[in-house]
Amino acid sequence: MPELPEVETVRRGLLPAMEGVVLKLTDVNRPDLRWPFPERMADRLRDVRVDRLRRRSKYLLLDLSSGETLLIHLGMSGRMTISSDPLGQFLHDHPMPEKHDHVVFHMENGARVTFNDPRRFGAMDLMATESAEQHKLLSVLGPEPLGNAFDEPHLIAAFKGRNTPVKSALLDQGIVAGLGNIYVCETLYRAGVSPRRKAGRISAPRVAAMVPIIRAVLSEAIEAGGSSLRDFRQADGELGYFQHRFDVYDREGQPCRTPDCTGVITRIAQSGRSSFYCPVCQR
Ligand SMILES: [Zn+2]
Repeated sequence: MPELPEVETVRRGLLPAMEGVVLKLTDVNRPDLRWPFPERMADRLRDVRVDRLRRRSKYLLLDLSSGETLLIHLGMSGRMTISSDPLGQFLHDHPMPEKHDHVVFHMENGARVTFNDPRRFGAMDLMATESAEQHKLLSVLGPEPLGNAFDEPHLIAAFKGRNTPVKSALLDQGIVAGLGNIYVCETLYRAGVSPRRKAGRISAPRVAAMVPIIRAVLSEAIEAGGSSLRDFRQADGELGYFQHRFDVYDREGQPCRTPDCTGVITRIAQSGRSSFYCPVCQR
């Protein structure tokens, strides 16, 4: 499932093909993904310029010259592919249409951006740019983890008195937007905090220490995604999926990487999701 760094990598990959470029035509090949598409979506996505391509949490937001914003969520399995970019950065010819190519954007510069999603947990919606922040999916979001509004006092206040495990608190999108299972596991490992510990029982200095760790974990992953973009000539044109080394995520049974720690990475289920951690150095 794409998390914030993957979505940011998709955004950066799409920028040269889409930002400032007129969207000539959009093929909408089915009526819905997770939810029905907005009314007359293909009409509203014809002959409009993409003024800005930004990200909020795991949502891509395309501000259009029509005064509307297109929201795209990749869901569990959504993929974006670019083909035939005349700028020369992407050498991929237009591929044959595939079964799950649900929406295809034809750009004036010749680039084609395809949204493919076999499981259809993805979503698209159109809204007035002016009131985009009030959209039901965006209005519930807390601050961006890499933005200025996410700081130590915010996290300390958000954890205060909370009886839920810290793992759940960090996954709460109202506390911090865009953190998912993988990067929460990695954050708690670096912070030396057990995912089972109650959020409200962690001392303020330890909570404060998580803020720069969250930023670092995400920034490093975005950097790894950037490297994958630079290697793009060899890739197949698919954006946002890249090899990245994790310290605890998906490493059940393997030795802890903390120097001198004898622990073994353990997996537990919390709220139906796997937490990976070292029971020795995460307390
Ligand atoms: Zn350890």
